Amino acid sequence: MVYLIHFNEAFKHARHYIGFTDDLDARLEDHRNGHGARLMAVIRAAGVTWRCVRTWPGDRKLERKLKNRKHAPALCPVCAGAKALNRAKEIN
Ligand SMILES: [Zn+2]
Repeated sequence: MVYLIHFNEAFKHARHYIGFTDDLDARLEDHRNGHGARLMAVIRAAGVTWRCVRTWPGDRKLERKLKNRKHAPALCPVCAGAKALNRAKEIN
């Protein structure tokens, strides 16, 4: 699945991380420990808290597609509210 993480504070210009995993719980645990993605390690080191706000069923192709769109704030229910959930339907 593909997952979207929302940072509770912006880090430089970053506010989100999109990733792919077969085991979300294990992957989030890795991120909590600063493993698995450079950005998440940097976020942890900076003391920024975060949460996983949504997931999509899909593979790395979907991950790539979502990353390339650079529209994470529009897909994030924290940043965009209910509108974000409607936008998700367009993707799948
Ligand atoms: Zn957000």
